Amino acid sequence: MQIKANDSSLKSWVEVPADSDFPIQNLPFGIFKTEYLNAGAGVAIGDYVLDLTYLYENGFLDGLGLPAGVFNQHTLNGFIGLGKQKTRAVRERISELLLDDNDELRDRKAARELALIPMEEVEMLMPVHVPNYTDFYSSEEHARNVGTMFRDPDNALMPNWKHLPVGYHGRASSIVVSGTPFHRPKGQTKANDADTPSYGPCRLLDFELEMAFITCKENGLGNPVSTQEAEDYIFGFVLFNDWSARDIQKWEYVPLGPFLAKNFASHSSPWIVTMDALEAFRVKGPEQDPAVLPYLKYEGKKNFDINLEVGIQPDGSEETVVCNSSFKYMYWNVNQQLAHHTGNGCNLQVGDMYASGTISGPTPDSYGSMLELSWQGTKTIAMKDGTERKFIQDGDTVVMRGFAERDGVRVGFGEVNAKVLPAK
Ligand code: CA
Repeated sequence: MQIKANDSSLKSWVEVPADSDFPIQNLPFGIFKTEYLNAGAGVAIGDYVLDLTYLYENGFLDGLGLPAGVFNQHTLNGFIGLGKQKTRAVRERISELLLDDNDELRDRKAARELALIPMEEVEMLMPVHVPNYTDFYSSEEHARNVGTMFRDPDNALMPNWKHLPVGYHGRASSIVVSGTPFHRPKGQTKANDADTPSYGPCRLLDFELEMAFITCKENGLGNPVSTQEAEDYIFGFVLFNDWSARDIQKWEYVPLGPFLAKNFASHSSPWIVTMDALEAFRVKGPEQDPAVLPYLKYEGKKNFDINLEVGIQPDGSEETVVCNSSFKYMYWNVNQQLAHHTGNGCNLQVGDMYASGTISGPTPDSYGSMLELSWQGTKTIAMKDGTERKFIQDGDTVVMRGFAERDGVRVGFGEVNAKVLPAK
């Protein structure tokens, strides 16, 4: 598949800073509003947001067969639901409009100034309405670390782990966009030395470094999607912080799994980086041994080499990076996750989010949660301001960033950040 917009030699007439996550090869989609404009769809280019409603209404997207009003919406569900052929054609056309030698928009000063809005003037909103949220558990390093801490170092992985991508159905209503502060959750916990449980603010609040993919096509109830077909169903990816209350989790999770320890807030980054834009960053996944069942077999490069980092910024102080990981470490790839998820006929909906599970790497500085970084609270993490952390404190802002880089092209996600306020 040849995607012209991905050509590493392309340059835009819009100035793009060298370290920008949003060069012309990226063109991620999001929903924004400004003081003067209602919510609508945009594309990030350098330090600007390109207003797709404006482009559509002024004829710049003619000939693509797009329905009226498709960008003048509070979510991208309608747009991504047009299918990948259509959305790919839109990305190709936007790339063409932004090319340095294309004068269609470049030389029309008034149009250009209305179409391009400086990022500091926009507020980013949730990019999609999320009908369903699934959380996988697909990083072997993370599963091993948790199994080692809570069960048995010699049998860290459960017997099913290498045979299927473990996951559970999470809560969609509490997924919010980057920058939305939230209150420390309260819940029921029981200390090891206590006879009875108590109710109060979570003491072991944690982040989970994850990525999530968003689906753009329905399979219809009863129709499994194969690993070969899976990519037709995936529009793109966001960074995802799947906040977790470890003390609540520990007491409540038996026997049905995560519940209130997980559903109080999860944060998504605002820009959806298309699967198309990540083509150049495909890598082979880890060797899968034992061999997987036939419905989970796949061919080709299905992992993505995306650098990930997590920083903690204490209130009014400087940020400290506490984790450097990569999406390439995932044991189970997204094709397998989707094939497994639909293997029983479960129906996908447009806008669903499917999170990877905490993405930990092989070294202690690449662990994607405080649970692992502090090894269950037995180690402390030093902050630049002289304080220490085992878990996340009130006033802390947790920031996650991600980007892929090859041949001088950097395709990034921006960031997902959130500040923790005291319990209500
Ligand atoms: Ca998770």
